[in-house]
This record gives sequence, structure tokens and C-alpha cells, in this order.
Amino acid sequence: MSVIGIDFGNEGCYVAAARSGGIETLANDYSLRATPSFVAFDGKKRIIGVAAKNQQVTNMKNTVGGFKRLLGRKFNDPHVQHELKSIPARVEERNDGSIGIKVNYLNEDQHFSPEQLTAMLFTKLKETSASAMQTQVNDCVIACPVFFTNAERRALLDAAQIAGLNVLRLMNETTATALAYGFYKNDLFEDKPRNVIFVDFGHSALQVSACVFTKGKLKMIASSWDQIGGRDFDLALAEYFSKEFLERYKINAKTNARANLRLLTEIEKLKKQMSANSTKLPLNIECFLDDIDVSSSMQRSQMEELVAPVLERVEQTFRKLLAESKWSVDDIDSVEIVGGSTRIPSIKQLIEKVFNKPASTTLNQDEAVSRGAALQCAIMSPAVRVREFGVTDIQNYAVKVLWDAEGSASNAEVEIFPQFHASPFSRLVTIARKSPFSASIVYGQPVPYPDQTIGVWKIKDIKPTERGESQEVKLKVRINQNGIVLISSATLVDRKELEEAAAATGEQAAGEEKATGEQPAANSGEQADAQQEGNDKAKKKTIKAVELPMEIVTHGFYPNELANYSQQEAKMIGNDQKETERIDAKNALEEFVYDMRNKLQGGPLERYVVEAEREAIVAQLNDLENWLYEDGEDCEREIYTSRLSTLQQQTDPIKHRSQDFEQSPAAFDELKNSI
Ligand code: ATP
Ligand code: MG
Repeated sequence: MSVIGIDFGNEGCYVAAARSGGIETLANDYSLRATPSFVAFDGKKRIIGVAAKNQQVTNMKNTVGGFKRLLGRKFNDPHVQHELKSIPARVEERNDGSIGIKVNYLNEDQHFSPEQLTAMLFTKLKETSASAMQTQVNDCVIACPVFFTNAERRALLDAAQIAGLNVLRLMNETTATALAYGFYKNDLFEDKPRNVIFVDFGHSALQVSACVFTKGKLKMIASSWDQIGGRDFDLALAEYFSKEFLERYKINAKTNARANLRLLTEIEKLKKQMSANSTKLPLNIECFLDDIDVSSSMQRSQMEELVAPVLERVEQTFRKLLAESKWSVDDIDSVEIVGGSTRIPSIKQLIEKVFNKPASTTLNQDEAVSRGAALQCAIMSPAVRVREFGVTDIQNYAVKVLWDAEGSASNAEVEIFPQFHASPFSRLVTIARKSPFSASIVYGQPVPYPDQTIGVWKIKDIKPTERGESQEVKLKVRINQNGIVLISSATLVDRKELEEAAAATGEQAAGEEKATGEQPAANSGEQADAQQEGNDKAKKKTIKAVELPMEIVTHGFYPNELANYSQQEAKMIGNDQKETERIDAKNALEEFVYDMRNKLQGGPLERYVVEAEREAIVAQLNDLENWLYEDGEDCEREIYTSRLSTLQQQTDPIKHRSQDFEQSPAAFDELKNSI
């Protein structure tokens, strides 16, 4: 048995598997560990991962990448409009305001949502795991950026469900990295807590987190982030070279999507070379535009000038973390770096400047997130036995509960979780009510999402008591293991019927105390929940609680939509499989033609067939070869298989004669002499 961890990056994905033997990052169908986050379409099938990225230049409109940052968003969201500038595919607003990515698939225009595209990528990762592990894999932990809001987290979970993945937890990316570090470094925490800063600088995001390790557990303290990454370096360089080419060659790369893409590809290579080399390096692109070859060069120091505003933001993000963690630089034991863009020397210099420590590369920079997620999955899943390691994550934004206060014009509100509160966690809010009401959960600080509302819960079936007084309603507000905030239950506390009712029905009772919910001393947030729920149970004897029905409006697809998308995904998987089988059948026929011709003409089968028959078969093979390149280029699988079996029937007797001879040459001679 095995379980997996997924790092779904904006540029590339990694999957790691945990088995009882240890953690392993899995290679895909191209023997690579990175699977580009790209999905493409053609008249016959979907193309996902490495193959999709490879054909991007020739199929730009039907190749989609960069959809991680569109998850859970509406088309008119300014963030989406910004992202769309770097997505060459056609993207439209659908009737309900959602994002429809329009591609030509199976020879017709079809729209897919970012969630569906993510599900397609997950399907590929699932296949990669299944073939590497030789077993079906369903349980997983998926990592997501620390700054993902409720809508984005729900969208990611929806995507996983469409792909048939069972997500045990959505885990913040830097927390996964911290687990990958701490799990194997336990001995370092023997004597005293260790304070570590994790810096993840990827393709589109910078995330920095502070974490305290003690023996057998880790606790996240604070995070800061900015939506900048390696692609901002690429864009700054593209701007520079485009300008230069316009002046020197009078060609405008920006007007041609294909040229722009080629330029970005070459720039990324150059950027990586500049990480290792501070001398001047060339950039050459043949037949760039209008058959003109272009060439230029750049030096690291020049790049640093061009990206100065990005570096400034990186430094600010580091300083913000330092302030929010309330650590002084002397409190920090080490700064661990992951993510492709931390290879850039100026980023390492900034780390040293702000944290007064050299950047440490204990972890595999590309694989740490997926390995941490796989470890978390192993810890949670009964399928794999690993040592325990407690993980207390954080909720990165303050959260408030609002409700219309009876008899008052204004809303009542309470900050239920301050920023960086431990997660998962539950708290109770007690409200006096005579009638049904709506409670909203909203972010208590600006978030990178246009709508501050997490959801609205309509609490029903509330009436005044017989004496016309207010009832006591308790809302249980929970940050769950996915970092999603919700009202998990609403209960009415009925004190009157209490004694006989509780004894007679044994109904579950709720705690009377408002949870104080300070950060848990226990080693995991889940245990914090358990403790509080334990308190609830201790009060059972005195109170009867009646569960109230709720109507919920929050982000994410409705169950019927999810069922529909899952069905569509299954159909597309079936279609891809059929297409693979068709191509395999064609290849098998082609291979047979070449192989048999070689064997019959000067090969090992030549002497087992009379000349006339041999010539007839060879002529037939030649015809088939031509047919395969012409009319037979694009046929149903059955046509290839039936042609192959006809050929096999004809040539099998020849093969049998040769086999018979090899097994018993003497008998063969006798037979020949007797003829
Ligand atoms: P994100 O975390 O933002 O969702 P991601 O996880 O896909 O994205 P990574 O794989 O961590 O991103 O990093 C990819 C980025 O790192 C790309 O921009 C790539 O150009 C850059 N990169 C990789 N190697 C180097 C290098 N040697 N020098 C500079 N940049 C590099
Ligand atoms: Mg990443």
C-alpha cells in the first residue's frame, strides 16, 4: 500500500509516495520528476504534462497553463484579468460569471473551468503514481499556497474530487516543507526548540514561514507572502529584449504570441545560466520573426537592475515575516530555502541581509513540498506505518463571525480567529435568539480575493421559549484540516427539559462554556479539537442540545455539478484510453510489417517459405505500409487489429515451420527428403 503527496505548482507538479520503506519522488512517463502544469487538446485526445508543454508552440490556442491562479475565481476578478495576460488560450466569461477556457477538443469548441483543468492534471498525476507504484492510489495530501483563501481551497478540493482523489488534507506549502525538514531532523530538537524560517520562491509566488520544532512536533508561527516569482524575472527580461529587438531589428515580439513564447523559453534558460555564472551570456534565437535571426546578451548584474522592483518586494516580504514572527535575527537557528527561484544568487543575498544567516539548502529544493505532503499523508493514513510527527498549522487570515442582532439595527460581530491562529481548531459562539437568523463568516483583514465573505449560514427552526424569552444558540465555528472555515454545527441549548430528556434519549449535549481555545499545548491541532470536544462531553449531564438545521451558501460546486464534472472527466479518461489503444494497435501493425519484411527478405524466415508465396506476402506488406501512410493513417482500432490478425494467419504457418525446425532439425530434414 502507498499514499501520495502532491505539490501542484503554477509551473510544475511533483508527486511523492510514502511507503513503509520511505519517501520517494515519482518519475512520470518521460522519466522526469517534474510534470509541467499544462493541459492541451487536439481532435482526438487530451495531452497532459510534459507532452503538453512540448507541443505548446505548435498548438498555442489549445494548450493551457497557469490555471492554478484562476481557481475559485470569477472572470471579472482583476486578479484573473491580470493572469490572463500571460495565458495565450482563449478565455471567456460564462453566463454565471465563471471562467470558461475555450479549446478545440474532438473537433469542436468546448469550455472547461480552471477546476476541470486542474482535475485533468490530477488525473495525470494519479496515473503517474499508479504506474510507478503498480497499484491504484487514491489517498493523498495536496499542498496549496499559504495565501489561498477559502474559495481557492474549496476549488482545489473540488478539482481533486472530480479526478477521484481522496484528499486527507490540504496542507500549506511551507508547512509541507517544514514537515519534510523536521521529520528527519528530529535529533536536532532533542535539547531545545529550533526556530527555522522556510523560504519558498517558485514561479509565481514567494512564501515565507516561521516554524518552531520541538521533539516530535512542529508548530507554524507566522507566514508572509507576495505574488511574485520567477516569471516576474522572465517578464522583466522579455520587456528588455523586446525593446532591444524593436530598435535593432525593427521586429516587435509582443505582436506575435508564438515569438513571445519562444522568447520567454530562451529567457528562462538564460536566467538559469545566470544563476551559476556572473559573466556575460548570449541569447540567440534563429528565425525569430520575419525570418530574422536575433542575438543579444546579458550579465547577472544587468538582470538584477532590471528586476530591482521585484527584489525590493522580496526583501519587504522577508522583513514582514520577521516582524510577524516576533523573532529577532538571533532567535533564528536556520533559514531553509526551496522553490526553483531560490537558486537566484540575489535572493540568497537578500536572505543573508535580512535574517543575518546564510541560506541553507538542507532540503531538495524541487521535491521538498511533495515529500512533506506525502509524509503528512502517511501519518494520517492507516495504509502506511510511519512514526508520529505532530503538525500544528496556522490560519493565515483573521476571521470574523457576523450576525444580525435581534432588536438592533447594526450587526453583531466577533473576531473568532485572529491571524495566525492554530489550525485545525473549533470555537463556540453563543448567541441569544428568538427567531431564525443568518450568520456570516468573513475575513477580518484584506485578502487576495475580491470578496471578503467566506459563507453565509442560515440557522433555522428557532422560536422563543414558552415564556417568550430568547433561546441560547451555539455556533461551532471551525477551521478544518484543509484551512477551510465553516460553521460545523448550530445547536439550541434547551435547559428546561434537560434531566429526563438527556437520560431518556441520550442525545448529544453541547458544552456551555465558550471555548477559550488558546493555542494547544498538544502536538497537533486535531488534538486541540479533540480536547475541546472532550470538554463538551464533560458537561453532558446538565444540558440537552438540539441540532438546528442550516442552509449554507459558500464557495465551491454543488454536489450535482461535481457529479456531472466527475462523469465528464471519467468519459474523457475513457476517450484518452481508447485513443491510446488505437495508436497502440496502429503501431503494432506497423511494427509487424517492418519486422516480417525483414525476416522474410534475407532474414531468418526466408528459407521456410516458397518464393512465390514469399513475394506475394512481401508485396502485401509493402501495400500495407503505403496504406498506413495514406488512407489507413487514421482508422478505428478494430481495422488495425483485423489487418494484423489476417497477416498473422498468413505468416503463422511460416513461423511454425521455423520453430518446428529449431526444436527438431533432424525431423525437418526427414520431412524435406520425403517430399
Ligand atoms: P509556484 O510555487 O509559484 O506555484 P512552482 O512550484 O511551479 O510555482 P518552482 O518549480 O518552485 O515553481 O520554480 C519554478 C521557477 O524557478 C521557474 O520560474 C524557473 O524559471 C525558476 N528556476 C528554476 N531553476 C532556476 C535557476 N537555476 N535559476 C533561476 N531560476 C530558476
Ligand atoms: Mg511551488
